[in-house]
Amino acid sequence: MPERKPRGVLIAGNWKMNHGTAATGAFFSELSKIRLSAGGTSSISAGRLRARAFPPMISLQAALDGAKIVGFPLEIGAQNAHWEKSGAFTGEVSGPMLAEIGVQCVLVGHSERRQYFGETDETAQKRAESLLGQGFQVIFCFGETRQERESGRTFDVLKRQLTVGLGASEGKIAPYLDGRLVLAYEPVWAIGTGLTATPEQAEEAHQMTRKFLWDQFGMEPAGRTSILYGGSVTPENADSLLSRANIDGALVGGASLKPAGFAALLEAGARALA
Ligand code: PEP
Repeated sequence: MPERKPRGVLIAGNWKMNHGTAATGAFFSELSKIRLSAGGTSSISAGRLRARAFPPMISLQAALDGAKIVGFPLEIGAQNAHWEKSGAFTGEVSGPMLAEIGVQCVLVGHSERRQYFGETDETAQKRAESLLGQGFQVIFCFGETRQERESGRTFDVLKRQLTVGLGASEGKIAPYLDGRLVLAYEPVWAIGTGLTATPEQAEEAHQMTRKFLWDQFGMEPAGRTSILYGGSVTPENADSLLSRANIDGALVGGASLKPAGFAALLEAGARALA
């Protein structure tokens, strides 16, 4: 019988512009008091369930310190980084700066970066390629707007975002499809809106994404690459989403901000693996 969840489950919390340093310290102190179930603990110990949090830049050090007291491995990532290693880029942070404090993972191409800060498929591609080349793990976000879905263009849009954003046609990303690159399908209409894609809608987009990876890079890289779903995931709807074959975890904003919510999402991850 094929293994359930062959890629394990990754639960990643995107804090967006929430939790400064004091609130970050309080988050981890509260999380350290929550006992995960036996299933949760054993899935995490076995490396089948992975936990990540993406705090704002200013809170990264507090989060790295806080993660040490929670009693299980919890990786800390950055919400963005520039593709250049240094230079005249006011307001930006580079990969080497993140690596220096111990950050090993970066979110790239989040829809809020695309919507409000001019991120394009091309700039997302530059970030992904540079950061992967520097040894970071990257969670690459993509997804259609409501208008694109309603006009029946969802799959064309996703294909374009993946082709250009991953530099797929030039094969630029191929060497990193060994687990270092994770994809996050996040329909823009579902982010922070309380509207969640149905498990069927999400699974359909994930299947299309895996087929895309298969066609471009072959069966093994496609099979190894985790595809997360993001968009108003909560502890209440996580089970039905995570039960789908091609949904390998969740990227969660609002519901990950409270320690109890984050822990409940990890428990849903453990149930999906059981
Ligand atoms: C996100 O920030 O990536 C996200 C999916 O947010 P929310 O869970 O709040 O919709």
